[in-house]
Amino acid sequence: MEKRIYNFSAGPAVLPEEVLLEAQKELYSYKGAGMSIMEMSHRGKIFDQVIKEAEADLRKLLDINDNYAVLFLQGGATLQFSMAPLNLMPPKNKADYIITGSWAKKAMKEAKRVGSVNVAASTESDNFNRLPKQSELKLDPDASYVHFTSNNTIYGTQWKTEPDTGGVPLVCDASSDILHKKIDINKYGLIYAGAQKNIGPSGVVVVIIRKDLLERSSDDLHTYLNYRVHVENNSLYNTPPTFGVYMAGLVFKWLLNMGGLDEMYKRNKEKAQILYDAIDSSDGYYKGTVVKEDRSLMNVTFRLPNEELEKKFIEEAKSKGFEGLKGHRSVGGIRASIYNAFPKKGVEELVQFMEDFKKNN
Ligand SMILES: *Cc1c(COP(=O)(O)O)cnc(C)c1O
Repeated sequence: MEKRIYNFSAGPAVLPEEVLLEAQKELYSYKGAGMSIMEMSHRGKIFDQVIKEAEADLRKLLDINDNYAVLFLQGGATLQFSMAPLNLMPPKNKADYIITGSWAKKAMKEAKRVGSVNVAASTESDNFNRLPKQSELKLDPDASYVHFTSNNTIYGTQWKTEPDTGGVPLVCDASSDILHKKIDINKYGLIYAGAQKNIGPSGVVVVIIRKDLLERSSDDLHTYLNYRVHVENNSLYNTPPTFGVYMAGLVFKWLLNMGGLDEMYKRNKEKAQILYDAIDSSDGYYKGTVVKEDRSLMNVTFRLPNEELEKKFIEEAKSKGFEGLKGHRSVGGIRASIYNAFPKKGVEELVQFMEDFKKNN
């Protein structure tokens, strides 16, 4: 078999090897069907079971009850930047946005096309190196919802607990940390997550929505943009991203087999700790870019003494089989993305590489 590298990419990101091998096995002919999942009707018996199992497994992982609908849609998290306000802002047409990075700003940009947006807090003046404290939030009790980004993929910050909205529905872009731990779904009105970081291949976005909020979706909305239509049709209003849903389903089963999300959380904390410890014990050679209490378990961002060394670090790492370590183009530096599927061994080997690199440079 061909050798695999350690893939630290922020997204599309590493998938569990067991899942890839399973998909490979089933690719040519799915469980004796004589065709692949990609080639069969989305309304046939086989795919019907695939999507129903994927939903049931996701419900199991996150303890999602019947008050919530689960959807598998297309258009990525980016289309949700529009769908969330189009469906949920009316009738008041007011929403609060907590601005903690580029994705939050992009989400807000679309909301502004629908109604009036209150910036409940922004940490942009600190270059998004921290999250706002609850006491900093200037929430409008009359807002239709409060939007936040649970993990800021580019900057490397992550909310440890949800902001308290005082009963206003909470809307969350969880694209880069969904399923990294168990959360209390009942705190949320809507969660959306592009699949390509912690769920599966790109092309699928998972939407979890509290059913009472569907009343807000107007019949005047374009059909695909209406959550109620998708819920009434169980994600099959049009052709869903069938292969992506199948892959997401395999990842859900993998997570259940691993022991579920409490076990994943334990592993994620362990992995991140190894890396942050290496950064903090490097006598300032490696510097974390965000305040310690807001550090992400998913995207570990740090800098070296200068940009030349960062460039050399990335190149040498690549030659040793560590890919995807270059920070986002808007912030530079190094970013190691260590989602659920990223193995602990890869983190340990990176830390060894970091120690060697420091010695030699
Ligand atoms: C990657 C990412 C997005 C964009 O997702 P697309 O699927 O490319 O639209 C949005 N929000 C967050 C937090 C992300 O990490």
